[in-house]
Amino acid sequence: MDLVELARSLVRFRTEVPPGNEEGCARYIRDFLADLHIEGAELNLAKFEAGRANVVAKFGPDEPGLLLGGHIDVVPAGDESAWSHPPFEGVLKRGRLYGRGAADMKAGLAAILTAVEATVKGRRMRRGLLFVATAGEEVGFEGLKSLFARKLIPEGSARLGVMGEPTNLRPVRAHKGLADFRISITGRSGHASRPDLGVNAVEKCATIIEGLYAWGRILGKTNDSDLGSTIVTPTMVRGGTKSNVIPGSCELIVDTRWIPKHGTAFVEKGLNSMIASLRRKDPSLDARVELLYDSPSLKLPQTHPAVRLAESLSGKKSEVAPYGTEASLYTEHGIPSVVLGPGSLKQAHIVDEFVEVAEAKKALSIYTKLIESVCAG
Ligand SMILES: [Zn+2]
Repeated sequence: MDLVELARSLVRFRTEVPPGNEEGCARYIRDFLADLHIEGAELNLAKFEAGRANVVAKFGPDEPGLLLGGHIDVVPAGDESAWSHPPFEGVLKRGRLYGRGAADMKAGLAAILTAVEATVKGRRMRRGLLFVATAGEEVGFEGLKSLFARKLIPEGSARLGVMGEPTNLRPVRAHKGLADFRISITGRSGHASRPDLGVNAVEKCATIIEGLYAWGRILGKTNDSDLGSTIVTPTMVRGGTKSNVIPGSCELIVDTRWIPKHGTAFVEKGLNSMIASLRRKDPSLDARVELLYDSPSLKLPQTHPAVRLAESLSGKKSEVAPYGTEASLYTEHGIPSVVLGPGSLKQAHIVDEFVEVAEAKKALSIYTKLIESVCAG
């Protein structure tokens, strides 16, 4: 199938999370692979919730080879009237494919699928090729975590992995880890005319945010040569019920991006001790920290064979990225992985998201060579 037409078809599936609804698109991908009639192929539509499914496909021998992966879900399109081109129609204009997920990452998925079609059919393979398309990547890697939990991707089942996320076809070999927390602050509500009788949970939240910034400055002193330092950022606040009522509760969401020498447990402990020290100064401060989700950091050395191969096939030097990807989860799972795909990160998650068709075609050629060099005999 033509790469561009395939990418357009994928964009037309509304796979926004929330709510998800990836199953239709997952079935389409599974059927695309089934229609190739590749002998010995194992195709699995792995449902994990109503309307939500991943695709896992295995081609060739058991000998671990290459894993090519990506995600089906997209972030919400938001106000569709703000788009110059409808976000789920796959509009093609002046060499660009527009739509939610065009860059992140349905063009990447289409390039991978087309590369599979071009290389695997009728070939004798020396090593296996694994293809994985996940759901719920944008919300804490739900789909991939369910595949690991159900042992549908055995540890070390590929010698290297490539995720087709948008990197402008420059290999990414390192990124920070991520941990998001909810801090629930409990106060005591009352009439706003008598703040002295209540405990204002929104005020306590402000104190915690100040504490976060102070702690952030301390964290900033520890540096990783590739990734810089751990950052903590308040991203959501919800509190209060009415303009004339002292808020009795407040919820603060904190996004943290940590370097490998720190990690989720370190950050969680740091948050708790920051709050404990605030409470010593103000015993009425009552806050509880809860981890919402986390994902590991990625750090492959530049000399790693997966990095070397990605660099040589793309013709570009590898770099580090500010965002998290499934590459880190696969690497932790014994499949050292890099990120390399068409489209720009700047295009991800924005209105009028697009991918350059020429770049998607280049990705197809890189993935084709990748499969040939790792798997084909
Ligand atoms: Zn993505």
